Amino acid sequence: MDPFPRMPAQLLYSKCLFIFVYLLFSPSVLHINPLHHCQVSEAFQKRVQNKIKDLLQQMEEGLKTADPNDFSTYTGWTGIALLYLQLHRVTGEESHLQRALDHMKRALRNLNGRRVTFLCGDAGPLAVGAVTHHRLNNKAESQECITKLLQLQRSVLSPDSDLPDELLYGRAGYLFALLYVNKEIAPNTVDETTVAKVVTAILESGKNLSKDEKKSDRCPLLYEWHRKQYVGAAHGLAGIYFMLMQPSAKVNQEILNELVRPSMDYVRHKKFRSGNYPSSLSNETDRLVHWCHGAPGVVHMLVMAHKVFKEEKYLKDAVECSDVIWQRGLLRKGYGICHGTAGNGYAFMSLYKLTQEKKYLYRACKFAEWCLDYGTHGCRIPDRPYSLFEGMAGAIHFLSDLAQPEASCFPAFEL
Ligand SMILES: [Zn+2]
Repeated sequence: MDPFPRMPAQLLYSKCLFIFVYLLFSPSVLHINPLHHCQVSEAFQKRVQNKIKDLLQQMEEGLKTADPNDFSTYTGWTGIALLYLQLHRVTGEESHLQRALDHMKRALRNLNGRRVTFLCGDAGPLAVGAVTHHRLNNKAESQECITKLLQLQRSVLSPDSDLPDELLYGRAGYLFALLYVNKEIAPNTVDETTVAKVVTAILESGKNLSKDEKKSDRCPLLYEWHRKQYVGAAHGLAGIYFMLMQPSAKVNQEILNELVRPSMDYVRHKKFRSGNYPSSLSNETDRLVHWCHGAPGVVHMLVMAHKVFKEEKYLKDAVECSDVIWQRGLLRKGYGICHGTAGNGYAFMSLYKLTQEKKYLYRACKFAEWCLDYGTHGCRIPDRPYSLFEGMAGAIHFLSDLAQPEASCFPAFEL
């Protein structure tokens, strides 16, 4: 079809005038300072709230043609339910909780027993199902989800399983599910012994590979996925160390000092001059700046390391991550949280929570501002355009966190 059908001069003129007036007043051209007295300004909050409503409508419409069987947090119904739980937390509106339940039910009908993680396996729907039912006071249903969640530990702990350890498909992704339930329901919903067993399995696996690769003195906890030693949050070392340092994982201080800290320092030495990190230990191209590969994922590990070990060097590296993300973090891959602008925005939120420095909140707001013009930058459209990790639901999640930046939380990752 001809994209420029001929039109009468009069019509063309009025059309041009309309476009000119539109551009003059369109939000992206107005450039409101999103901050006011070190807080997100009311005017900007209002724009964000309006956009959330608009995007939610688009998302619900788009989901009508989404894969009915994809139950996952990463691309499927559990991710959508998690977004509604977030909206319920932020706004207190009961309708969001009901919506979360609707999507959860759909997810729970489709479990397949193939994977064990929060993001891509059965543990995600079971953990989010337990939390949703708990909030609705459906005690029996919540408990049923937890029982099934605990049954998955058999394959996680089995010494002869070939399960990896990373977040998307491995043990760290199961550990997250347990810690999530303990945070959202009550601290001992999953008992300490179970958490400790999963932690031990992760530590043993890391020690074994390190020994095999003769790196015990330099990097005592080493992990791989598909025979590659990835660095980033999704498949790599940063995501695993980040989980091991969670206070609720209760890894003892000696292990943190002797195993986790030197391993992190080994990864820190792989940092590029730009402040970014390679996607794997053997990769030397400074290309990807995503949560899944690069500084936007590694920054969370560094912020946590600073909290745990109180050493300035971790904060300094985290600040460098923030700078490289600020320079290169608006992504053509879109607005999502795995490899999109919203995910990179969470890096600034993390530094803001740690330092309370206005600069980081400003940067988060500017990335949010980019997301407000959703779909207008010619970005690539992801395979699952409405999902939590690839698409619109993730961007909405990020935008909704601007209402209370101190309580912001990268879904399925931060606790
Ligand atoms: Zn990604």
